[in-house]
Amino acid sequence: MNEVVILGAGYAGLRALKKLQGNNGDFHITLVDKNPYHFEATDLHEVAAGTQPREKITYEIEAVVNPKKTTFKQAEVAKIDRENSQVIFTDGSSLHYDYVIVALGFESESFGIEGVEEFAMEMVSVDSAENINKHIHAKMAEYRTTQDPNALKIVVCGAGFTGVELLGALVEGRDEFAEEAGVSADQIEIYCIEAVTRLLPMFDEKLSEWGINHLKNWGVQLLTGKPIKAIKEGAVVYQDNAETGETAELEAGTIIWTTGVSGSHVITDSGYEARRNRVSVNADLRDPEYDNVYVIGDVSAVMDRESNRPWPTTAQIATKMGEFAAKNLVKQMNGQATENFSFKSLGSVASIGNTHAFGLVFDKPVKGYPASFIKKSIMDKSLLETGGVKQMISKGRWDLYH
Ligand code: NAD
Repeated sequence: MNEVVILGAGYAGLRALKKLQGNNGDFHITLVDKNPYHFEATDLHEVAAGTQPREKITYEIEAVVNPKKTTFKQAEVAKIDRENSQVIFTDGSSLHYDYVIVALGFESESFGIEGVEEFAMEMVSVDSAENINKHIHAKMAEYRTTQDPNALKIVVCGAGFTGVELLGALVEGRDEFAEEAGVSADQIEIYCIEAVTRLLPMFDEKLSEWGINHLKNWGVQLLTGKPIKAIKEGAVVYQDNAETGETAELEAGTIIWTTGVSGSHVITDSGYEARRNRVSVNADLRDPEYDNVYVIGDVSAVMDRESNRPWPTTAQIATKMGEFAAKNLVKQMNGQATENFSFKSLGSVASIGNTHAFGLVFDKPVKGYPASFIKKSIMDKSLLETGGVKQMISKGRWDLYH
């Protein structure tokens, strides 16, 4: 019997699992993840801002595992020994596979900028998101005794999708922070420092501006065209003048790093030569060197033939890749030819807090409350498709109508 190993229970890994569990071929699956739970990576900002508890964005992996077909193994992968078809774990143990689907997800990317790892907070896991929230609350409590205004300042580094969604959620969390500090909400200062001036380039200028102005109207102080050069303890150092290179510093009690992500370090540790730990896969999502290895989700780079650039990493493409890799793997096990991956983005929508959003759906701009409604419906549909009815009912967003 073939042994199929899926590494990672994120969007890509769980979707591959679902598709494979639905096939009655003669194979056994081992699903591996370092956590006993799956988390909705697209909702981390809500846990960081405290607008949702961790339970709302996680569910037990066992809940989606069919024990007749699959074994769940909670372990941390150190590397993949592709030559010997083995997964090596951090405790030194190993697991043989006939086929492996690598879906190990993303990590924070510091771009080698000094002080990021020591002095900025990453938001790439449920624990790190929860740490941000605890830290903000600790700073607010500290203000009561020190009256240091920097304790009330929060800086988000980078205004990509993640940064923008986090800013919206932080604005919504502001009342609670203010109460903790014993100040009024407008005394909580929320900043964002961003390298470029043209934000969210996947949207046309008018649509990006709509979203950005929304945040500004909510009191977010946005500094654009200011690349961050270093993070110090309690301060962000950024280039203030592009011509002279002169820098400035913004002091703050909370500094959150959302300037982009890379794939899991396991990719480099497994001997791949990959840019930002994203493996350039074959058109059928297989490893170019080993045809029993599929690489999907944030550890994978697959070309968009239209733009001639790799597709950006999103939950949407990760789930599609999961489905596709599972389909190709079944074909491969049955001795049939695999197919080339194709993807048509349905669009992308960025939330601004719980009731507003903006983005593109089927190439049409959407904004405001209707966009938020659409985004929540997309999230509920994704929960249904990956987690099943039970997860959708308990974790879905049912506050669509207010
Ligand atoms: P990103 O790369 O899309 O954005 C990072 C931002 O940080 C950019 O605006 C960049 O200019 C800025 N930046 C980088 N280095 C900087 C520096 N030194 N100083 C100041 N600014 C700097 O990363 P992301 O926002 O984490 O998103 C990652 C991927 O996930 C993207 O493909 C995104 O579309 C996707 N995503 C989608 C959604 C959604 O669909 N709702 C939500 C979150 C993320």
